[in-house]
Amino acid sequence: METNLARKVDAAGNIATIGAPLLPESFAVLVVEDDDFQRELVAQQLQILGVAKIYLAADGVEALMYLHNYGPAIRLILCDLEMPNMDGLEFIRHLSCSGSDAELAITSGSEQAVLRSVHTLCQAQGVTPLDVLEKPITNRHLKQLLDEAMVQQAVTAAPPKAQVPELGLLDILTGIENEEFEPHYQAKLDTASGRIVGAEALARWRHPQHGLLSPEVFIEPLEQAGEIDKLTFKLLAQAAADCRAFCELGLELRLSVNLSRASLADPNLAHRIHAIVCAAGVRPAQVMLEITETAAMTNVAVALENLARLRLRGFGLAIDDFGTGFASMEQLGRVAFTEIKIDRSFISNMHQTREARTIVESTIDIARRLGIDAVAEGVETGADWLALRKAGCPLVQGNYVSRPLPRQKFIQFCETRK
Ligand code: C2E
Ligand code: CA
Ligand code: CA
Repeated sequence: METNLARKVDAAGNIATIGAPLLPESFAVLVVEDDDFQRELVAQQLQILGVAKIYLAADGVEALMYLHNYGPAIRLILCDLEMPNMDGLEFIRHLSCSGSDAELAITSGSEQAVLRSVHTLCQAQGVTPLDVLEKPITNRHLKQLLDEAMVQQAVTAAPPKAQVPELGLLDILTGIENEEFEPHYQAKLDTASGRIVGAEALARWRHPQHGLLSPEVFIEPLEQAGEIDKLTFKLLAQAAADCRAFCELGLELRLSVNLSRASLADPNLAHRIHAIVCAAGVRPAQVMLEITETAAMTNVAVALENLARLRLRGFGLAIDDFGTGFASMEQLGRVAFTEIKIDRSFISNMHQTREARTIVESTIDIARRLGIDAVAEGVETGADWLALRKAGCPLVQGNYVSRPLPRQKFIQFCETRK
């Protein structure tokens, strides 16, 4: 059912205290709810709040039909979880493939514990909900939701997403040969002192036609072709030279470089890394190697030998994306890591779910007990930063502190923070 009634003040007269958001006429909301009473109630509340176009669907099937017919106009979807025919989760799965960029909010009558897991469930289906609301929804909550949806839509509408060009392995290898790859540096901040103490070197490809390209274009093809070392060693050499140059400018920073798991199978890896770093006049203690735990280790004995040798030579070792792979704890016991990097998925969910917050806090605690540093990755907001400082996280990294910057800009950034 489509409602397009004239706006009216509600009988209780609480419109005056809530205040209607400045919604454009084109802002349509889709309500997916099987209970007739609840559906009508939400429609009335939305009207009071100034929504001009409201589509009402009794289940997922009907909702998909509205999405198909009025897709671009629908900016917000309020979706119940339990419904006959097609339930909320199935609808969300279809929504993620539909190309719709509407914001999603889940409404549910379930208990709090279930509501908390809904966020994660939706993300697994490919959609991150704006909010999960407990039924019945209050006017105030709905108003907040509309405001948030408006802001979010303005943000996502602003920069058009760059197309990722199709580039093959040969292009990538030629680019490496032609010195088109460079590290960008993302600062690591000490929460106690507020000082920049290090930076992570992140590979960027300055492509002559396509401009600056991110690792999603080249890391996987290089890893799959067994050619990742070509990039690793180039990037390490550049980072080591920069580390030396930073030192000469009075910036005593420890630089982190990402190391692919695949590289650990080479028995000479530790020697090669050591030789590159020393040749640049840098002490191994100034360099940290970050290893992700997602890919399975092919030759465990050789990998452990490499890691042990790197530690013996004085390099720092970080376990990257901690919490996302399997066997994290086992890895911590086997390898003398000096740093744990808490994956950004936990940081971004820290305010939404108690589970994510508990994982972050426990990881900080594990690191403290092991006598090593914890680094929170993907710190995006002031709220993240405050929560992490309160939780005693010693180091943070993320766009809130600084985006990854090219060498010269990074130096300028550090100079202003001295
Ligand atoms: P990573 O090691 O987990 O690096 C952190 C990623 O998170 C970077 O993405 C960084 O730009 C991004 N990031 C940092 N702060 C924020 C934030 O506040 N919000 C959000 N949403 N993202 C943030 P990037 O540069 O695209 O790199 C992606 C991945 O590619 C890296 O993940 C790393 O696994 C891999 N990578 C990058 N450079 C190299 C390299 O030289 N060698 C290898 N083997 N892998 C690399
Ligand atoms: Ca990393
Ligand atoms: Ca990471």
